[in-house]
Amino acid sequence: MTHDSKTWDVLVLGAGAAGLMAAITAAKRGHSVLVLERANKVGKKILMSGGGRCNFTNMYATAENYLSQNRHFCKSAMSQYTVWDFIDLVNQYDIPYHEKELGQLFCDRSSKDIVNMLLDECADQGVSIRMTCETSTVDFGDVHQVDTNQGSFKARHLIVATGGLSIPKMGGSGFGYQLAEQLSLKVWPKRAGLVPLVFSDQYKLLFASLAGVSVEVTATAGKQSFTHKMLFTHRGLSGPVVLQISSYWDLGDPLTIDLMPHVVVKEVLIRAKKEQANQSLLLWLSGHWPKQLAQAWLAFHYPEWAQMQLQQLSHGDCEQLAQSINQWQLKPAATEGYRTAEVTLGGVDTDALSSKTMAVKSQPNVYFIGEVVDVTGHLGGFNFQWAWSSGFAAGNAIP
Ligand SMILES: Cc1cc2nc3c(=O)[nH]c(=O)nc-3n(C[C@H](O)[C@H](O)[C@H](O)COP(=O)(O)OP(=O)(O)OC[C@H]3O[C@@H](n4cnc5c(N)ncnc54)[C@H](O)[C@@H]3O)c2cc1C
Repeated sequence: MTHDSKTWDVLVLGAGAAGLMAAITAAKRGHSVLVLERANKVGKKILMSGGGRCNFTNMYATAENYLSQNRHFCKSAMSQYTVWDFIDLVNQYDIPYHEKELGQLFCDRSSKDIVNMLLDECADQGVSIRMTCETSTVDFGDVHQVDTNQGSFKARHLIVATGGLSIPKMGGSGFGYQLAEQLSLKVWPKRAGLVPLVFSDQYKLLFASLAGVSVEVTATAGKQSFTHKMLFTHRGLSGPVVLQISSYWDLGDPLTIDLMPHVVVKEVLIRAKKEQANQSLLLWLSGHWPKQLAQAWLAFHYPEWAQMQLQQLSHGDCEQLAQSINQWQLKPAATEGYRTAEVTLGGVDTDALSSKTMAVKSQPNVYFIGEVVDVTGHLGGFNFQWAWSSGFAAGNAIP
């Protein structure tokens, strides 16, 4: 057990993306900084992110890419530490990276490059890190006392960077929310985001028979739509478009999927009926989709039309087909939950925090940063950018 008599300038709870960035930034300003991490490694989520290649930022990140009760909250931090500031840091370390698509920057080699860069920065700035050190209680004051499984620590400033509930195996914990409640801060209801959707019996068999098939669709929940790849799986639907829309979908809500987002099916079918009268409906569908999807979808929705030629379709049939292709209404049974979710929606109310410094308005020597805050990015590098920006804002604000 440690009975550390030292009073640190800054104590950071959590050595994830946000906590490490805050620690580095505070240390650069000359402060003594200790980071406490309950896992046996730092940055576990960074390591597993982006399929092992860490999609570390997005060149086109704006406030529009974030969900929050206050869509403007993220702007100040993101202007203090921009996407280009993080890219500069990556360039300084000669880490090779590439744009995969849509402004998403990934490491060429491995996510380890990003973790090693952050650890090198910590070492250069004299940041101390204690691993397998789980914080259990905090006594807030002018000097905070933090109790852990490795003893007690004291600090003048406390930065809470304990992340969200997603993937408990990788460190997801509710501790930050608990601390917010201890300070009487509001915590918005939490739920899994960027997560695959699961379906009940009706669709389960169809989706399982298509497991591995991917197709571009537009998915809509409420007023939000995304167009990208959808992947059928044994459990339901996944792929980038489904992860994106999952953050906007609430249990019980319908989901609308346009299975041919670039085709006005009604018009195109009516034309095809005249011009390719003898073509089978199955062949026509196979011209737009992978054949496996065309077969399974037709067998599921219109088994009696399996052998149908286009000329045999009435106008009413074309309308019905168009509706079920361009506006397929589904009711997901649930999400896969925190077990596979990339993020946790909701969290510490932004109204309780300064958007410039991330400090708690009622307790200005405590800061909440990263995923624990009610700011959640879309898929595509936006969540790490929020971690870097909010971490910087807090670290830079410490007087
Ligand atoms: C599979 C997966 C892939 C992802 N891929 C991407 C991607 O490519 N791009 C992107 O932008 N985002 C991605 N994300 C999201 C991104 O990882 C998170 O948004 C980001 O890691 C949040 O950073 P954070 O520092 O706030 O929290 P975390 O990274 O979760 O760090 C919190 C840390 O606090 C520690 N901790 C918790 N409780 C305690 C306690 N009581 N005492 C001490 N330590 C504690 C945890 O062990 C953890 O290390 C992905 C997420 C997952 C799960």
